[in-house]
Amino acid sequence: MIDTLFIATGNAHKLVEIRAIFSVPNLKLVDMNDYSELPEVVEDQDSFVGNAVKKAVELAKFSGQWTLADDSGLEVDALGGDPGVYSARYAGEDADYLANNSKLLHELKGVTERSARFRCVIALCSPDGEARTVEGCCEGKIALAPSGDSGFGYDPLFIPVGESRTFAEMSDLEKNAVSHRGVALANADVAWKHLLVNN
Ligand code: IMP
Repeated sequence: MIDTLFIATGNAHKLVEIRAIFSVPNLKLVDMNDYSELPEVVEDQDSFVGNAVKKAVELAKFSGQWTLADDSGLEVDALGGDPGVYSARYAGEDADYLANNSKLLHELKGVTERSARFRCVIALCSPDGEARTVEGCCEGKIALAPSGDSGFGYDPLFIPVGESRTFAEMSDLEKNAVSHRGVALANADVAWKHLLVNN
């Protein structure tokens, strides 16, 4: 029986969502705050799967615990799938959300075909280094200008299919019900809860 799961994310938003899904009886959840000297994992893979698996495997090796890690980003069709795995550093290594959003709007200036999707891959790795993944995707389009103050990242520019509002104009609950991370977590719940509860 697995008694401890290490949720390897430094993002407080993600931590809350993941903790809610994996709060199962007799499973102790730990996160990055429970470790003082975590190794830095460089996200240098060319796919979300590659980066999520790399993080989960390296941190499972370090912690000796079952470890969950994720990677996510935005793919814009008119940009050939960019920013993709470079979503966090689209406007440069230390770029903030505002700079990334400005660059995206600049790249799409005059472009009418603005379809895009958020993708999220979650990897779960056992202490002996065996990883498995689930995915979630949310289709939508890029707005002509930012709207809304909620969420983070590209939320003010992303309008999910069937909506007229951006993610940043929706409540957390509304966003999580359709978001890439919400879908990936629901898939993780189905695929792995049983594994974690009964292993
Ligand atoms: P990571 O999964 O934390 O590496 O996220 C990569 C980048 O993708 C983030 O820095 C954001 O720019 C973007 N991103 C991922 N998920 C979301 C989301 O739910 N809303 C807005 N931006 C996101």
